[in-house]
Amino acid sequence: MTRKSPAPQVHIETFGCQMNESDSELVRSMLKREGFTFTEDRERADVVLVNTCAIRENAHNKIYARLSELKGLKKQRPLVVGVLGCMAQNLKDELTEKEPLVDVLAGPDAYRQLPLLLSTALASQEQGFSKKGFALDLSEYETYDGILPDRNSGVNAWVTVMRGCDNFCSFCVVPYTRGRERSRDPEAIRLEARDAAAGGFRQITLLGQNVNSYRYGEWDFARLICAVADTPGIDRVRFTSPHPKDFPPALIEAIAAHPKICKHIHLPLQAGSDRILDLMGRTYTGNEYLALVERIRRTLPDVVLTTDIICGFCSESDDDFQDTYRMVERVQFDSAYIFKYSERKNTIAARKYVDDVPDHVKGARVSKLVEIQRRITLERNLKYIGKDVEVLIEREATRSSTQGMGKTNGNVTVVWDKGTSLFEPGTLITKRIFDASAATLYGE
Ligand code: SF4
Repeated sequence: MTRKSPAPQVHIETFGCQMNESDSELVRSMLKREGFTFTEDRERADVVLVNTCAIRENAHNKIYARLSELKGLKKQRPLVVGVLGCMAQNLKDELTEKEPLVDVLAGPDAYRQLPLLLSTALASQEQGFSKKGFALDLSEYETYDGILPDRNSGVNAWVTVMRGCDNFCSFCVVPYTRGRERSRDPEAIRLEARDAAAGGFRQITLLGQNVNSYRYGEWDFARLICAVADTPGIDRVRFTSPHPKDFPPALIEAIAAHPKICKHIHLPLQAGSDRILDLMGRTYTGNEYLALVERIRRTLPDVVLTTDIICGFCSESDDDFQDTYRMVERVQFDSAYIFKYSERKNTIAARKYVDDVPDHVKGARVSKLVEIQRRITLERNLKYIGKDVEVLIEREATRSSTQGMGKTNGNVTVVWDKGTSLFEPGTLITKRIFDASAATLYGE
C-alpha cells in the first residue's frame, strides 16, 4: 500500500502530567518545521506517537492497552509507531524486546532527533523493511530553547521553566527518566510568554518537576514568576509543581504582591508521618510542612491550597496512616489528589524497600482520605456562597452547551447559565456564587 499523502501525517496522544502536554507541543513544533503534518484522526495517520508517563501503574496500563490497539491497526496497513516520554526512557528494554510493534523510542531529552528517526522509519517501511530507531540519552543541558511550542488551543499556555529533578524522592522515577535538573534562560522564557500572549492565551502556567528550585544566574523562581506576570496581555500566572523545601518567604511575598500571580499553591504533602516522609526522602517533617502552611496562610489568607498524597508506601503502618489522616484534617486542603503507592522500576524504593502494604489496605486508606477530603472540600466550597468571584472563562461546560465553565483565581471550577450574556473564552468576568458542590461552584 502506498502512502496517502506526500507529507507524513502524525497523530500524537499524550498521557500523564502537564509536562508531557507541554513536551507534545514542542514535538509538534519540531516535526512541523520538518514538513510533517498532524491529524486528530488516528485512522488516517502514517505515524502514531504515544507520549507516555511512568509515574503510576494506571498510566502504564492505559499505555499498554493503547499499544495493543495499535498492533491491530498496524496489521492492516503501514504505520510507524513511536513511544516518547518517561516510559520510553524507563522501560526501554521491555519496549524494544517485547514490543516489536514499536519503531521509534525517544526519551524526554531526545526529541530533536525525532524528525530524523521518523523519516528513517517511514522510508524503510516504504522499502519493505523495518528500521527501528532509539534515542534515549539524557542530557545535562537540553532545555529546547529556540523552539516555540505549537500550542493546543485554549486560554492557558504551558511554559516549561526547568527540566529534570535532583531530589530523588525514593518513590519517584522522574530523576531517572528526565535526568538532572536544569533551568531555562529567563529571556527565552519571557520570549515564550510574549509569544503566548500574542497567540491569544490569557493565562500562563509555569511548569517544572520541581518548579520553585528554578535558578539561572541571579534569577530565582520568585524573580522569574514576577517577570512572567508582567507580560502585557497575560491576566493570570500559575505554577506547578513546587517542592515544600524550596519555598522561601520571598516567594510567598512575591505571590502575595503581584496581582496577576494566582493565589493558588499546589503543595505536595505525600505523607503525614515523619518516618514515612523520611523513607520517601522528602526532606521535611510533618511539623515543618505545617509551619510552611502557616507562613503561607499568614501572608495569603485567601490562598487555595491543594496537595498530592500517596497511601500505602512501603511499611506504612496504621499509625503512620493516622498521621496522614490527622494532617489532612489539620491543614484543610481545598482539594487533594490521593493515590495508592505503586512501585516504579529503578526507583530507590524499588531497590531498597519492600512494597508490603496489601493492595486492599492501600485501597481502604485511599477511600478514607478521599471521604474526609471530599467533606473538607465541600465545606470550603460552601463558603463561596453569596460571594463574588472573578472567573476566567475557559469553554462551554462539559455537561451542557447552555452553560459556561471557567476557573476562579484559586483554580476552582465555576459553572453558570450562559443566557444572553457575553461568552468569550479568555475573558475575565465576575460571578456571584449561589450554590456549591465538592467539585463545582455555581454562579448566577
Ligand atoms: S521532587 Fe520528588 S516527586 Fe517531584 S519530580 Fe522530583 S523526585 Fe519526583
